[in-house]
Parts: sequence; structure tokens; C-alpha cells
Amino acid sequence: MKAAKVEDGVLTIRDHPMPTPGDGDALIRITSAGVCHSDLHLARGEWMNLPPLVNLGHEAIGIVEGLGPGAEKFAQVGDRVILGLGGSGGGYWCGACRYCLSGQPRHCAESKGIIGTFAEYFTVWARSLVKIPDSLGDNEAPLACGGLTAYGAVKKLLDHRVLPGRPVAIVGAAGGLGHYAVQLAKTFDYQVVGVDVGQERLDFVKSLGADLVLDATEPAAAVELVQREFGGVDASLIFSAKMAGFRLGFDLLGKHGLYVAVGIPAASEGNFEWNPFQLFMKDPTIIYSAVGTVQDMRELVDLAAAGRVTSHVSRVGPMSELGAIFDELAAGRYLGRAVLTDLSR
Ligand SMILES: [Zn+2]
Ligand SMILES: [Zn+2]
Repeated sequence: MKAAKVEDGVLTIRDHPMPTPGDGDALIRITSAGVCHSDLHLARGEWMNLPPLVNLGHEAIGIVEGLGPGAEKFAQVGDRVILGLGGSGGGYWCGACRYCLSGQPRHCAESKGIIGTFAEYFTVWARSLVKIPDSLGDNEAPLACGGLTAYGAVKKLLDHRVLPGRPVAIVGAAGGLGHYAVQLAKTFDYQVVGVDVGQERLDFVKSLGADLVLDATEPAAAVELVQREFGGVDASLIFSAKMAGFRLGFDLLGKHGLYVAVGIPAASEGNFEWNPFQLFMKDPTIIYSAVGTVQDMRELVDLAAAGRVTSHVSRVGPMSELGAIFDELAAGRYLGRAVLTDLSR
């Protein structure tokens, strides 16, 4: 079977042996796979201390074609499923430790990731699979990381009592995660302030339902407008891959606001610093939000099936175009996501 991997630092697409499902695993024939910014960072070794990964891809749709021992309780041959769970923690969790029982299986000492969906076939822990209705097409594969991560972040608004109707900034609103967050925040009735760069991207954010759009290339004007209009936003969700987006999201925040960091810029972007006096003045709640659980994935599939959230895919291609897609992604040339639609070539 064909698979894309990073071998000796080089992206290769070649034949590999078929995987066999182990205990509790399902064998999936991948029919589409989304290309996440994380795949690009991982392929190029752009995150601190992380060597380039061998396997790539962590959001996909496919068909169950085989089951390992015990997996039949959780999936059936022929099921059409979405898989990936954002890569981090979705490949296995014990279900019994304090992190699993408090809804944070990613921190479970036994957790395993899901990486390697840029392949014709992939084996995955069957409990992490979520069945999807035929009404959701293969272009919805990015729901498995981009959508799930955005949904996890928007749910944090409710956890921290940011009330529907209140203004919320989404920084990086036209990107692979942000475009879901705009739709989801509108679904939960927030006033959405969408932040991105350039007219084309801002027009796209507006078309997704944002109430106000701001150009991040003019941060002072953006902050002035939001502070005058709302006294600052109640929460900022930061999906940006640039540290300037982290700064702007903080400056847009009103007093006692909620700051939700989600994006992970390349290590070359440096650090984001606060002076403690700024914290004293603003008194923010600062949290991080990563991916989501299998239960979040089920809820998100239901929202997508109900038409409340849709993947915006502006580039599709066979796996052989992955190198070109990485270059285009690095250059910020997409609205929404790119999806590999043929994993056999
Ligand atoms: Zn991802
Ligand atoms: Zn656990």
C-alpha cells in the first residue's frame, strides 16, 4: 500500500507493507485525509525539541475493512468512519486514571496518538472511531482535527461562563481551525469578531457569519475599535500560527477576559511574553485548549450533519501532491483546508 512518510528528513511517497489490526484495532481503508498545519510543522521539524516524524496525517475518513480481536464491540466491517481525534491522545487511553475520568484522556500516562493517515490503509484503536452519515462527504475529513480542535476551544467558553450574546474574538479566523470556530461560535450565539489578514480572507470570514472582521495587519486600529465598541472582548480564541496573533488576541481582550491559546507557532517565532503589570491590569484567565475527546467528535459530527458547521476545502489532490500542498500551506495560500482525496497515488 502507498503511504507518505518522512524518511531521513525527506518526504517520500512509496509502497509499504499492509498493516494488520492488533487487539481492539480496526483496519481502515482511507478515502480522504485532511492536511493540518501540524503535519507541516512535524514534517519539517519546526516544533521545539521534536525531531521530524516518520508518519504523517491525523484527520481522515475511511471504511472499516477488518477488525482485530475484541474490536467487533466498537465497529463493524463496512462502517464509514471519521478518525484522527486531532492526533494527540486519540490512539489509546486507559479510561480509568484521573485524567481519563475528568475528560482529559490526552494526559493519560498510557495515551497514544493517531499519526499516519496519509496512507491507503491504517490501523486504529476501534474505540476512537466515530461513524458518520452518508450525508457528510469525504471533504469533511478535516473535522477530525481542525474541526474538533475548534469545537474543543469553543466549548471552553461555556466551561468558563462566557455567555452567549457576548463578543468573542477569533484570531486566525480564515484558517483551517478558525473557519470552524467562527461557525461554531455563531451556532452557540456569540457575537463573533473575526481577525485575519487581508481583504480576501476577511470577506471569507464575513461569509461564515462573523459580526465584525478586523485586519491583523493594523493591530492598533483593531484594538482601538474593539475597546471602544465593546470595552474589549469577553474571550479571545487564538488559532494563529504567528506570535503577533497571540499578542493581538491579548490586546483585544477586555478586563477579566478569557484567553484561550490553541495555535502552536513554529519555534522560530520565539516566545510570547507578558509583563505581570499587564496581567494585574487585565486580570485575565489564560488557558490552553488542545484537540478534543471522542465524545466531542460525536457531538461535532451531529452538528455537521445538522448543517451547523461545514468544512471549507479550497484545495484537493492525490497524495502525490502532498509536497506542493505543504509549500502552499506554508505560504498561507488557502482559505480553510486542503484534503487528499486519493491515497493510492
Ligand atoms: Zn491537526
Ligand atoms: Zn487514563
